[in-house]
Amino acid sequence: MKICVFETESWERETFEALADEHEITHTDKPLTADNVDEYKDADVVSVFIYSDLSAKVLDKLENLKLVATRSTGFDHVDTQVCEERGITVSNVPTYGTNTVAEHVFALLLALSHRMIEATDRTRRGDFSQQGLRGFDLRGKTLGIVGTGDIGLCTIEIARGFNMNVVAYDVAPDEALEEKFGFEYVDFDELLAQSDVISLHVPLNEHTRGLLGEEEFEKMKDGVVIINTARGAVIDVQALLFALSEGKVAAAGLDVIPEEPTVREEAQLLHRMFREKHDLETILADHVLLRMRNVIITPHSAFNTKEAIQRILDTTVENIDAFCAGEPVNVVAGG
Ligand code: NAD
Repeated sequence: MKICVFETESWERETFEALADEHEITHTDKPLTADNVDEYKDADVVSVFIYSDLSAKVLDKLENLKLVATRSTGFDHVDTQVCEERGITVSNVPTYGTNTVAEHVFALLLALSHRMIEATDRTRRGDFSQQGLRGFDLRGKTLGIVGTGDIGLCTIEIARGFNMNVVAYDVAPDEALEEKFGFEYVDFDELLAQSDVISLHVPLNEHTRGLLGEEEFEKMKDGVVIINTARGAVIDVQALLFALSEGKVAAAGLDVIPEEPTVREEAQLLHRMFREKHDLETILADHVLLRMRNVIITPHSAFNTKEAIQRILDTTVENIDAFCAGEPVNVVAGG
């Protein structure tokens, strides 16, 4: 098969070598577009990221095309209707960062509970005093998980290892999970009232935008800790600032903040085209939260470990391999 791989940087190309014995592979750092499609018109397989154009106009020129292997979870850059009509299979990468993001939740939480940033800043200055560094234990505390999907559940597993009590809220609760993972579903207001730490794991949509606002902060325990690795706009930032200034919220660990540019999915943040369009540093630096000592902010990096990124590449190569062997996997259209 002739496999054309688009939008790859040089470090990403090695993984595709596993296919090189049996197939002809070409790489380019450019996206596939209507302007360059003629160069690739005999491709059997294309592997793309989300900046490539797989509209009908481009697909029409790829007469031999049998598989689109997108290196992303989302696939709205592919005209799946045309693919269905022409029998072109479309495969995606369903998950890559579940445990990675859940681990980041605890990186943020432990950094706050052990005052890690202030403590290490201090020793770097040669100051080994203890004053003002007293933290708090996680053991025995109640963690409220909002959204018991993949990341929420993985976060619960880790929390149970710390002997935390876990309560959770989800619009579509699956009671069978309670016993398996050792937590209890409660309604949203109960979660707000009971939790010492609240961690958000819901998608951003019309129902979750501003899910934690002024009213919700009022219902929380005094001194609650908020962790957000979901999407910034799930928290009303003004209400959070007020709750922090009042001491209602003792501390916050945020991997996402509302002013971030729209991120369709995390791998986009690593892409050259995203970096060229958006200056995350400036956006973050402007933010008042960044200057608060009881708030730690990471630059939407919860997903970014070498294992998670390698999983995208490995899954894509598996998708191509399985398709060529006649047993396609992770098919989202045209299978
Ligand atoms: P998922 O789809 O597996 O789970 C989402 C859960 O939220 C589901 O159980 C769903 O029923 C629940 N839900 C939806 N709307 C709700 C509402 N209004 N109230 C309560 N529950 C609601 O998703 P996931 O893989 O666990 O990811 C969760 C979120 O984490 C993603 O949507 C994404 O925004 C974010 N994320 C962030 C990073 C990062 O690097 N910071 C990486 C990956 C994902």
